[in-house]
Amino acid sequence: MVSSVKGTQDIRYPEIKRWQRVEATAREVFARYGFTEIRTPILERTELFVRGIGSETDIVNKEMYTFKDRKGRSLTLRPENTAGVARAVVEHSLHRSPSHARLFYIGPQFRYERPQKGRYRQFHQVGAEVIGDSSPGVDAETIAMVVDFLSQLGVMGLSVQVNSVGCPECRPGFVRVLKEALEEKKEFLCPDCNNRLERNPLRVFDCKVPSCREILKEAPVINENLCDDCRVHHEAVRKILGLMNVEAVQNPRLVRGLDYYTRTVFEITSAVLGAQDAIVGGGRYDGLLEEIGGPAVPAFGWALGIERLIMVLPDDASEEGRRLYLAWNGEDAYDAAVELACELRKRDCHVVMEHSARSFKSALKRADKLDSKWTVLLGEDELSSGLVTLKEMSTGEQSSLKWPELFSLMESEGEK
Ligand code: AMP
Repeated sequence: MVSSVKGTQDIRYPEIKRWQRVEATAREVFARYGFTEIRTPILERTELFVRGIGSETDIVNKEMYTFKDRKGRSLTLRPENTAGVARAVVEHSLHRSPSHARLFYIGPQFRYERPQKGRYRQFHQVGAEVIGDSSPGVDAETIAMVVDFLSQLGVMGLSVQVNSVGCPECRPGFVRVLKEALEEKKEFLCPDCNNRLERNPLRVFDCKVPSCREILKEAPVINENLCDDCRVHHEAVRKILGLMNVEAVQNPRLVRGLDYYTRTVFEITSAVLGAQDAIVGGGRYDGLLEEIGGPAVPAFGWALGIERLIMVLPDDASEEGRRLYLAWNGEDAYDAAVELACELRKRDCHVVMEHSARSFKSALKRADKLDSKWTVLLGEDELSSGLVTLKEMSTGEQSSLKWPELFSLMESEGEK
């Protein structure tokens, strides 16, 4: 047997219903905020990610699925979608059109990571990007939108954390201060942190090693070293979040793994998820479009991992639907059942009818396995009396109904 690729998953019934609910709710909620969908290619030129994500990041260094095509060009399966959206914006000058200023996407991403619960090599993200506005209100509203989305889905126990990572004016000074402070403790930091200290010091804050975390508790934090503009921006973001009733905790040690972030960064975590507890990550990336060869246009965005969201998603009874299994017995009953199934589907019922003959006993077993709410039995007796037998599966109660009675019952169930 040829098995699936490590770190990938087949998303099947019944879990697929949760995915569909997530996607439908995303479309509904984001439309309320004036966002339109964009679908960018899964394949992009490798250079886009090297420039857009940064050559010193884990993603670009060790996690990309990169290969040469038949003409020897280096291509990569997208590890995230922001760079692709930014490329599309630049390529089609979307930043000039107000109808493209607010974009969202839903789709698969690929990273060669060590698979574990909540971490896969093919995973899926919902994300949103606002292009062309550097106002703090954009940061706050886009964070509020994802909080609104999660609360529409009934997800509980989330924590929203915000921070500012400064801008090209104030960050280099802070990085110097941080580096100096940590150089003194170098021998107590893990090899990864030593590496980060050389290449990308801010990323030491991503370290999960307990002894490093202890040291970092004492390290200088960026939000005490912001320039005036960044400080004013950050205070405004927090104030507007308050106006929007979004409870956000200031986390001075929150940084993001990607180089292109400026000012606001935020994360939404779930207390029930364990090690991979981040559901949403995002922030402002005013330098990205320029980095990939476009104009200097500011932007704000976030990405949410659907697999992790599905793990904390509560059940929704409305997903049950009006599921009905239609069992028949005898050739004439088969013809009538075909017609009855058509009529029921016209009335929005979900009807499973099988086309090979089986006894009512075996049909009822299958109806049970299919989690049907009802079974309709149509045999010779029913046919001659013009009735059907309706069995409610949870109670076992049976009744005889005329076809129009069955239709009105199903219609009234649909209105519930
Ligand atoms: P990032 O693009 O790294 O900022 O990640 C944004 C969100 O995508 C995270 O908060 C996770 O929910 C999700 N995510 C990132 N990497 C993975 C992965 N390998 N498997 C599953 N979800 C992921």
